[in-house]
Amino acid sequence: MREQEIICTVCPQGCRIHIIGDETGVHTVTGNTCVRGDIYARSEFVRPVRTLTTTVYVENAAEPLLPVRTAKPVPKDKLEDCMAIIRKAVFRAPITAHQVLIANIAGTGVDLIASTERMEGGSV
Ligand code: SF4
Repeated sequence: MREQEIICTVCPQGCRIHIIGDETGVHTVTGNTCVRGDIYARSEFVRPVRTLTTTVYVENAAEPLLPVRTAKPVPKDKLEDCMAIIRKAVFRAPITAHQVLIANIAGTGVDLIASTERMEGGSV
């Protein structure tokens, strides 16, 4: 049996939720004050996910640092794999907001996208 305590991040109330479960699944969830917290807690216990946000260097850009993020949350245990791929990738301006920069990153089924645009103009 495994126990886990988490803070629900679904809304600003931040309920402290206690989960008991094992390899077969979740047995009890307590401390949540709504069903959304129950769903979040069960998901966190079985396979936690996070939205990856970082910045990348863009060649030939007026402003070379570009904020990027995954279009949806990815499994927490895939974050390092995603970062390794991002570090090796080369990006070039122009880039539009929400442009897919790396499709299906690390086999997660989720794309890495630009959070904003970058115009050309770095090589003056
Ligand atoms: S359990 Fe419900 S009320 Fe509590 S933080 Fe999560 S979403 Fe908000």
